[in-house]
Formats: sequence, C-alpha cells, structure tokens
Amino acid sequence: MVREPIRFHEFMPDKVWKWKILEDNLEKVLALHDYQEIRLSVLQDSKVLKDGITALMQGHEADHAMQSVLSLSDVDNQLSLLSLRPEGTISVLHHTARITNPGEIHRFYYSGPMFRKHGKNQQMEFYQLGVELLGSESILSENEVISLGITICNALGLNEVRLDLNSYGCHKCRDDFFTDLRKFLDQHKEEYCQVCYQELYANPFSETRCNNPKCLHSLRSGPQISDYLCPSCKSKFSRVKKIQANLGNRYKVNPHLYKNFSYYNETVFDFVTEHNGQQMVIGGGGRYDYLSARIAGKKIPAVGFYLNLDSVFEIMEDRGLFRGKTDEFMVYLSSESENMEIMALQFAQELHGQGIKTIISPEISDLHQESQKARQKGCALMLIIREDNIREGKILLKNLVKEHQAYVPLKDTIPAILVARKALEV
Ligand SMILES: [Zn+2]
Ligand SMILES: [Zn+2]
Repeated sequence: MVREPIRFHEFMPDKVWKWKILEDNLEKVLALHDYQEIRLSVLQDSKVLKDGITALMQGHEADHAMQSVLSLSDVDNQLSLLSLRPEGTISVLHHTARITNPGEIHRFYYSGPMFRKHGKNQQMEFYQLGVELLGSESILSENEVISLGITICNALGLNEVRLDLNSYGCHKCRDDFFTDLRKFLDQHKEEYCQVCYQELYANPFSETRCNNPKCLHSLRSGPQISDYLCPSCKSKFSRVKKIQANLGNRYKVNPHLYKNFSYYNETVFDFVTEHNGQQMVIGGGGRYDYLSARIAGKKIPAVGFYLNLDSVFEIMEDRGLFRGKTDEFMVYLSSESENMEIMALQFAQELHGQGIKTIISPEISDLHQESQKARQKGCALMLIIREDNIREGKILLKNLVKEHQAYVPLKDTIPAILVARKALEV
C-alpha cells in the first residue's frame, strides 16, 4: 500500500496528544542513554547547505539532491538565500566541529520537521528523529547506537522491528568494488535504464527507485560489496552481527541495502517492520567517519540513525497504541448571574492549584442546558455560581456522575471537590 506523502502537517488537538506521547517516549529512552537534544534552525543558509550536500554526495547526485531542497527566493526571484532544512546531519557536524576537542564523545539528537521537494510542484514536510554519536570509532559505540534505535522502537510498542545490516567497507575495499561495478555497468549499459545507469555510476550504493522491469537493476545483479570487504572490515562486521545477535536483536544481512548518501563507511543498517502485510523501512543509518572532515574540516568519527516519525506515528495509530487522555477529572464552572467573572476565575485558579482541570462557561444560561454541555465535555462535577447563594455564603455543587447536587459552604468548596474526586477515583 503506497500512501500519498503528507505534504504539510496540520496538527490538530485530536493528533497532538498522540504526538506528545510519541515524543515523550522517545525522549525518555534518549535521556536514559545520555543523549542531549539539539534544536536546529529550520531555516538554513542556502550556500552552507549546498556545500554540505556536495560533501554528502557524489557530483551528479548532489545536483539531484539540491533540486529537492525547498528554498526561499528574494522578491525578484533571482537569488535563493535561505532554505528549509532537508536533513540535520550537516548542522550537527558544523556544531560539533566548533565545540569538540580530541577524544571527546558527544551524543546528540534532534527531531522535528524536514522539508523536501518531489518533482516540480510537490513540496512536502516530514517529521524525523536524528540521533548521532560523535567522536568514537569503537564497535561498542556502533552497537550502542543500533541497539538504541531498536530500544526506541520497542518503547513505542513496535516490538517486531528488526535490522537489515550491511557493510560498505573502508576506502580500501570500496575502491575495488566501485571499479568493478562501473566496469559491469559499462558492459551491461544497454540493460539499464538511463536513470539507474547514471545514479549507480555516480554512487554504486545508491538506492534507485526503478520500477522498470526491463532494467537490470531490478534484478540486483552485478558485483556486491560483501565480496570485496578487506579482512579488517569483514572481522568488524562479524563482530557487529555477533553482538546484535547476543543482545537478542533480530537481524538479516542484506547485501542489497543501499543508501542514497554515499558517505557511509563500514556498518549500515535499516530498521524494518511489517505494516499492513508489507515490509516497511521506518529508519536507518550507519557509520560515517569521513564526512565531518569534508563538511567541517575536522575529522570526527561518527555513527547515527534517523527514524521517520510520520511512519512510526501512522503505525502506532493503526495499531491503537495511543492510549490515555480519557477519564480525566474536570470541573465545569457555570454562572447563573451577571458579574460573577471574578468569582469564576478565582475558583478556576484555586482548582488549577490542586492540579484540577476546569472549563469555564462564558454563557449565563440555565442549569439544564449547562449540565448538558458539561457532560458533553466529560466533566464530572459542576460548580454553579449564583449571586444570591454567594451572598448567603454557599455554592451549588452538582455531581454529574452520581447525579446528585448539594449546597456547600463557600469556604468548603475546594475540599468538597477534592473529596468528590477521591470518591470518583475508586
Ligand atoms: Zn576495508
Ligand atoms: Zn532502472
């Protein structure tokens, strides 16, 4: 099932409370692992972004990627000065290069909207979590990051998520692979469509989205990187697999795991789930030890991943994983006389002080109508403010759940509401 991508989000209250649950859960897990949040600007300097993307990708691909960046033009439509962020890694590396000292480890995450253009007029926003561990070449850090991704998925209720693993090798092993793959492409040029040929030639790891059955790429033939790994890369990859297996994380080695960003080295991974009978990649990442030198002029070994939060949200919603937000104790404040505004607001303030949610009716209406509104809003109690009652030092408290009402002395109003709340909890 292919759904239309979300173009721009409109987060209405019926969705926002669910997003908060999703975000709270992410943040709890990330805090336990000592990851610090970075809040990146949504608007980015177009020039810095372009330089970054050129470093992320090979020439042809970088042009392609720049075309998908959403930029703002000046009034004459001549010059793009600012762009909406299409990803977060470039900014994180610039930031880290400024603050880091040799030997330091930084654990960062960011989440929020990213923007891209698809085709001519299709502009879209998507929500993404990005997690980066910077400063470590160790296999332990790599496995920490992979396991963190799995732990987050589990904490969100996606317990079946598994890993697809591959290794892109180091510079040494990938050079031979690139040479052979390009040779293969040339030998079979007629059997590829032009797009696949060009994309694969520029980046043999690129994930071409080709649906042309005649295109050889759909058969996934040709040399595979797994056959080109040097002894060191091979041994590291074996250790990653062993560690993940021992941690009980399900994985599959996928020699066809491709990424459009060619900057990864050694371990790459995807988080894969089943949704509506289909396999779905909801995130992924890998090691990228050489990227920082190209982007920020400072070598910082790094490993990270992204999670597509729109996909995660959609799955959680389909599976009914968002619960709560019902049965909250609320008090409805209704006035039946003029000039009771101060009284209503004071009661509300006192109730808020007790952590009790209130709804203040702005109308002066009769008890029957107001009771109906209070019930529709899900309120358990109703406080009816009448001028003559107040003068006599009392107030009418109606329990909408137990269907009874009684006058209570003004000074006992809040204690009476607390008692009623306690009684309703049982
Ligand atoms: Zn190698
Ligand atoms: Zn093709």
